[in-house]
Amino acid sequence: MSDKDFREFDPEETTADISDEVIEEVTGQNNKNNTDSENDDNEKKPTEFCYMCRRPDTIAGPLIKLAPGMSVCSECMQRTFDSMGSFGFGGGDNSKSNVDMSKMPNISFLNLGSLFGEGPKIKNAHGPSSANKEEDRPAPAIDINNIIPPHKIKAMLDEYVVGQDYAKKVMSVAVYNHYKRVATGTMDDIEIEKSNMLMLGPTGSGKTYLVRTLARLLDVPLAITDATSLTEAGYIGDDIESVVSKLLAAAGNDVERCQQGIIFIDEIDKLAKKKNANQRDVSGESVQQGMLKLLEGADVEVPIGASSKNAMVPTTTINTRNILFICGGAFPAMDEIIKARLNKHSSMGFMADLKDKYDDDKNILQKVTVEDLREFGMIPEFIGRLPIVFATESLDEDMLVRILKEPKNAIIKQYQKLLELDEVKLEFEDEALHAIARKAIDKKLGARGLRSIIEEFMLDIMYEIPKDDNIGQVIITEDYIEKKGGPRILVRTMGMIPEKVAVQ
Ligand code: ADP
Repeated sequence: MSDKDFREFDPEETTADISDEVIEEVTGQNNKNNTDSENDDNEKKPTEFCYMCRRPDTIAGPLIKLAPGMSVCSECMQRTFDSMGSFGFGGGDNSKSNVDMSKMPNISFLNLGSLFGEGPKIKNAHGPSSANKEEDRPAPAIDINNIIPPHKIKAMLDEYVVGQDYAKKVMSVAVYNHYKRVATGTMDDIEIEKSNMLMLGPTGSGKTYLVRTLARLLDVPLAITDATSLTEAGYIGDDIESVVSKLLAAAGNDVERCQQGIIFIDEIDKLAKKKNANQRDVSGESVQQGMLKLLEGADVEVPIGASSKNAMVPTTTINTRNILFICGGAFPAMDEIIKARLNKHSSMGFMADLKDKYDDDKNILQKVTVEDLREFGMIPEFIGRLPIVFATESLDEDMLVRILKEPKNAIIKQYQKLLELDEVKLEFEDEALHAIARKAIDKKLGARGLRSIIEEFMLDIMYEIPKDDNIGQVIITEDYIEKKGGPRILVRTMGMIPEKVAVQ
């Protein structure tokens, strides 16, 4: 709309004045010269005016009714929202305002043009049939001949994920089968079962990392969500279907890509049925119940570009039949359940074993069975929809050292690269790496603790090195990690060959 179509609101002007003027525009008659009959006027008056710009609906287009006798045109409404936006409301730059409207419930900013079929189009709105594929990046139609075979998937994972051979093997085969199933639809009368997975494993053992790496290597969208934030629909928290809208966002609102993506639900153990619960269990068992359909394959109506459904946000339908669900959790206390079961079996008869036989078994989670999961509080229908159950190994000192130095994007490689840009060589003594690994084990954070430990030690080095151009090499020693000494600093000589000069 041009500025001449839009009148600035002048508070001095009375509503009557404005109305008259606008009517004049519409009818092409001067009402001031034509005041003889009021009835005549009424006949010519359009039925409704915008409350703000006072234009009739014949000019302003369909009006939005806000209250009886109060309707506004879409442009005034949009301008109001835009000006709220420029004052820092609705996200964006909030520096000028103390109020962040985006954090307020039930206030969403939308493009009103879309209500009348105008304005910027939203990708894939209203149902898969209208799926707008990105022109430059068509959704990958999965071709049965081009699915990466399991050994290649595992080889790719090997480049990034240290150890966890069993988990990598299981995942590679499951993903291969899953995409074969997607590519073929159904095979004759035999429908291939979905390869949804349940992955157990201690914190920081690489569960999320495995899934992330897998999705990246396969170039499929991934949504990661935390089961603890999910509640049964209608209760405070994210409803179960919100995981699908996250995936749609990750797929750039491309419905087809979304329908072939992966959803990782972490902390699934937190949904265990509460023992002795006498209240409604809205965030545990009910969520398990609510997820059944999703895991199996259902049509879900999800909002586009928003996390919650409301009347103003366009929605689309996503079918979850080909979405691969991977659930993960640490399942604390599961080891006790497994031990109790194993001890019960092994303490009977002539072959009775020692009671404490499994006490030192760090990887006891790998012996998990469906009965153990039921005992833990997962409902049978839920377990039944996650047919592939496996556990990651807990990480020992040697594995942590390998994680520090082996993966393609290993932490120490990243630091070496950073210092290389300052033409400084960075080395870690093997004993220093073991000392870092021991500290991570003490913190009980698995590999997740490694980065924070290294960052603490590297801070001074990254701060001091750029100060002195003579420094050619830094060697991180065990003493430095154990806080008994400093790193070894070597200065460069003329020929750029560093020479040992100082041991701090
Ligand atoms: P979990 O989900 O099991 O709690 P994460 O996957 O978040 O643990 O792991 C934390 C970090 O530790 C990852 O981001 C990754 O950098 C590192 N990590 C964990 N396990 C491995 C592994 N096997 N190989 C390489 N890096 C790993």
